[in-house]
Amino acid sequence: MKAVRFTNWKTFPELKDVEKPTPGPGEVLLKVAGAGACHSDVAVFSDYDADFPVASMMQPEFTLGHENSGWVEEVGEGVTGFTKGDAYLVYGPIGCGHCAACSRGQDTYCDNVATMPYLASGLGRDGGMAEYLVVPARNLVPLGEADPIDAAPLSDAGLTPYHAIKLALPKLAGGGKTALVIGLGGLGQVAVQILRAITGATVIATDTKPEAMAEAERNGAVTVPGGGGQVERIRELTGGKGVDAVFDFVGVKPTIETAQQVVARRGRITIVGIAGGEVSWSFYSNPYEAELTNTYWGTIEELYEVAELYRNGQIKPEVKRYAMADALQAYHDLHDGKLSGRAVVVPHQA
Ligand code: NAD
Ligand code: ZN
Repeated sequence: MKAVRFTNWKTFPELKDVEKPTPGPGEVLLKVAGAGACHSDVAVFSDYDADFPVASMMQPEFTLGHENSGWVEEVGEGVTGFTKGDAYLVYGPIGCGHCAACSRGQDTYCDNVATMPYLASGLGRDGGMAEYLVVPARNLVPLGEADPIDAAPLSDAGLTPYHAIKLALPKLAGGGKTALVIGLGGLGQVAVQILRAITGATVIATDTKPEAMAEAERNGAVTVPGGGGQVERIRELTGGKGVDAVFDFVGVKPTIETAQQVVARRGRITIVGIAGGEVSWSFYSNPYEAELTNTYWGTIEELYEVAELYRNGQIKPEVKRYAMADALQAYHDLHDGKLSGRAVVVPHQA
């Protein structure tokens, strides 16, 4: 079968022929419906090298694609309760499955991560940019009758903002609250939709691309372009109080600094983008009790909640579909900033 392979650090992926996998004990073989292209993959193949902190768990070569959905094709030994053809979302992170963190469905923060040979499906272990994918049965979240192809981005571009927003909910509860979304790509656009669906906050959004801001406006955000006067304009939209919860899906120094300048007293800044920007903090540099934190992906339980929002029509990722033969083009377009919405590779055309 065809698969998009990460072959080496600082090397663009290749489309190769590999063996169709078979499910081991406790695993399920999925016929892939959709595999989203995430900007983190671009970091993996363009920026990282063997010295990167988690590089030992992402040793090439493997199949990319950590944002997947598919139909049950075959189950491995000991797996029951699945019907061939049923559609599922894949929870990507794979922890030991039995520590305290994994037991609460948070494999991202597995206590035994140091003993794990990989991070997730598509990050150290074969992912979904292929015709078929093997995952632990425990990592499957049912989609029912909902379209699994458009759902694929939910497993990262949906789950990651959802987790960040859920942890910030205490800041957004009540009337007159504001949220700011910086970076309106795959994750940021879904973040706007989630904020609109589960909070009453006014959503402010910004990006360097006018077409990305136009899409956020269609989803109910008020947009503010970058450049001079941006901080003042955002503060004005909050009645001078500042933003209660800022979500930065870029993570460079200038975006984090903008977040620090607009956040309210007792507000919260969540850095989700992994660009690695460094900023300074001192007692007087941030408003009192403003939190600055980062989040990584989300929990299995939260993916069930994201799937529910999608099945209820409350969120819907904007998807651009690519055939398997054009899968590398999806990464080129993402790398070159030419996408609006999420690129999803669809290996089996209807
Ligand atoms: P994307 O390429 O689809 O979107 C990025 C968006 O940011 C684009 O619309 C781009 O125009 C905009 N942008 C770039 N620089 C900007 C700036 N200076 N100011 C305002 N907007 C700017 O990327 P994505 O797949 O949505 O991923 C976003 C980030 O989140 C990436 O860094 C990715 O690696 C990271 N990520 C983190 C996690 C996590 O768990 N923390 C999970 C997935 C992705
Ligand atoms: Zn664990």
